[in-house]
Amino acid sequence: MSEQTIKGIAVSPGVAIGKVFILDSEDLVIPRRRIKKDDIPIQIARLEEALTKTRAEILQIQKKITEEMGVEHGQIFNAHLMVLEDRMLIEEVIGRLKKERLSIEYIFSQVMDKYSRVFAKIDDEYLRERTSDINDVGRRLIRNLIGRQRQSLAELKEEVIVIASDLSPSDTAMMHKEKVIGFATDIGGRTSHTAIMARSLEIPAVVGLETATQYIHDGDGVIIDGHHGLVVVNPTKRTIQRYVRERRKFKEFAQGLVSLRDLPAVTIDGKKIELAANIEVPEEVASTQAHGAEGIGLYRTEYFYMNRIDLPSEDEHYQAYRIVAEQVAPHPVVIRTLDLGGDKFLSHLDIPREMNPFLGWRAIRYCLARPYMFKSQLKAILRASVHGKLKLMYPMISGLEELLQANKFLEESKKELRGQGIDFDEDMEVGAMIEVPSAALTCDLLAREVDFFSIGTNDLIQYSLAVDRVNEKIAYLYEPAHPAVLRLIKNIIDTGHKHNIWVGMCGEMCAEPALALLLLGLGLDEFSTGAVIIPTLKKLIRSVTFSDAGKIAEEAMQLSMGKEVEKFMKKKFNKLMPDFLE
Ligand code: PEP
Ligand code: MG
Repeated sequence: MSEQTIKGIAVSPGVAIGKVFILDSEDLVIPRRRIKKDDIPIQIARLEEALTKTRAEILQIQKKITEEMGVEHGQIFNAHLMVLEDRMLIEEVIGRLKKERLSIEYIFSQVMDKYSRVFAKIDDEYLRERTSDINDVGRRLIRNLIGRQRQSLAELKEEVIVIASDLSPSDTAMMHKEKVIGFATDIGGRTSHTAIMARSLEIPAVVGLETATQYIHDGDGVIIDGHHGLVVVNPTKRTIQRYVRERRKFKEFAQGLVSLRDLPAVTIDGKKIELAANIEVPEEVASTQAHGAEGIGLYRTEYFYMNRIDLPSEDEHYQAYRIVAEQVAPHPVVIRTLDLGGDKFLSHLDIPREMNPFLGWRAIRYCLARPYMFKSQLKAILRASVHGKLKLMYPMISGLEELLQANKFLEESKKELRGQGIDFDEDMEVGAMIEVPSAALTCDLLAREVDFFSIGTNDLIQYSLAVDRVNEKIAYLYEPAHPAVLRLIKNIIDTGHKHNIWVGMCGEMCAEPALALLLLGLGLDEFSTGAVIIPTLKKLIRSVTFSDAGKIAEEAMQLSMGKEVEKFMKKKFNKLMPDFLE
């Protein structure tokens, strides 16, 4: 067969070259078998037995994951347990069993199919991703009903690249990094648990390939290009050689960067830059430190609210924040208060579906309307602040009034803690994310009320260019280097400095090395990105003078189109770092 390249979504960087292991998509064929009326109690007993067995299996996996990867990853399986305990689902199965008198495995598979189809059609990306949780637990239960074993990734004997229609959280949980050197799936997006796990395990991965499993077979040679989201099937010798070179170059480049790990991010002429990392769960801290991050510039706390039916208690928040504060000390950790909504949607909170979720009742707007919930998070952050250097920031601030309201809740929380005699860091810095154009344009008014700004370009770009950040059809318009975006950013940095506060960025834009050079030149004080890109940024910062970067930025600001800016910046960047592998 000739070489074929399939394009998907890059979710975890790196290059893997190897042989395919197809994880059976497990189309369990369940015959439609009639049963006698007298058999109904037996069928119900079989269902109960299978539910108990499945529950025990999931609890065991959860225990393993919690021990190996931490509590937050383990909590993924709460969603599975919830499906098993869903009375409505079980009653529907038993009701249909009595009415239709077909075998329990057949009825159960029909009901699960219905649930799965409903979820798969949901507009919301996060909820849609949960289809794989439902399928995962459903298949596990059917296997227990019919007594069949699933192939396990834990038993692999040699290095493989796993290709699957979808990988369930329990599949990824069983992966051994030494054996699974890369993976690719037909289904999935950047926020699927599979993608999150791939990044934290640092396994090159591509998802969203749609029909890859139709072209790829067990034992095929394949290349996973986790940088560009490509899968090359049956690569020619030449392609393999090219990727071997790329992989070597990438490894050498990465190894070369390891030596920079403990060095400061300082320009040749002595300007110190804060180089921090973004995390979603406390378990990622170790990886950020291994990559030389000096702190956490964005701790997204939404993950904490996911895959559970209740709200996290103040104490649960406190315990998680305390762990991160202690691990990262003496470096700072910026904890962002709940930024729910948009593409981050939680099923258990009572939020109505909206026409324009990104412009809707989300983030700080939602928190301000739920004082009890908001203050429990604020108090937990304050309590944890004595265990390290914590900073707090609010997402989606759109103007002064909102900021003042948020600060009022913070003051109330402080007062309550003082009343209870509980210590906290009285000087804890408080910042606002600047990710809404109205905030970017009135940041002079906001600067008086906070200690720092953190620019959230992921949202700022979508709002200022009117380009939905998750719509692939208009992705070509999503231009970080658009002059409108650059002017807003420059205004935020200059205004922040005029008011003597520091300005950072936690949006993905600063993870683009060529644009990072431009941001450095504009005077950005802090860069916060995914851990893997940190060494590259450190090398860049250490390869240039602040004054040269400033001149480059000045020139870039004169250009009229995003594409011109990108081309110009790439040229300047390549000159500084010719060995960089994109
Ligand atoms: C941003 O909007 O740039 C940001 C960092 O936040 P999120 O991606 O979580 O919306
Ligand atoms: Mg945002």
